[in-house]
Amino acid sequence: MSEILLTSFKRSLKLPISFSKYSVAVYQPKGFNYPKLRIFEIVDHTGRWIRPSNFVKDSDPLISYRDTLYNLYSTRKNSIENWFNSIIGQDVALCCWCPYDRAAQRQLKEHGSFVCHTEVIRYFAKYLGFNLDIDFDRQKMKVLI
Ligand SMILES: [Zn+2]
Repeated sequence: MSEILLTSFKRSLKLPISFSKYSVAVYQPKGFNYPKLRIFEIVDHTGRWIRPSNFVKDSDPLISYRDTLYNLYSTRKNSIENWFNSIIGQDVALCCWCPYDRAAQRQLKEHGSFVCHTEVIRYFAKYLGFNLDIDFDRQKMKVLI
């Protein structure tokens, strides 16, 4: 059984050797140099980073965040779909910092959950017909669906 897993750089170190590991983050922690999947980059064509903090003034900031990122991924639909098709049958880990970065740690402390773009990746993948698994930490990821 192959698996596509959303996880952190930190936890990726403990994965079985069968996993190919990729970065879906803008930067990587010191010591990491995974191939970067630009298709899931949060930077739009104008160079703007799509982050939850951009939307704090909206009536439902998290939904605005999710929709904006989802729309960005939609512009890359063909590339994303091709990439998922290319890894069928493989064990693949998509890695970001969360929840081991400062922002996620603060959110966990204040709200018991954290917001991470890997949730939007999962949501978009589902729309394309691919099921992504989440690691243990991501059970505390804010559901944006
Ligand atoms: Zn994250």
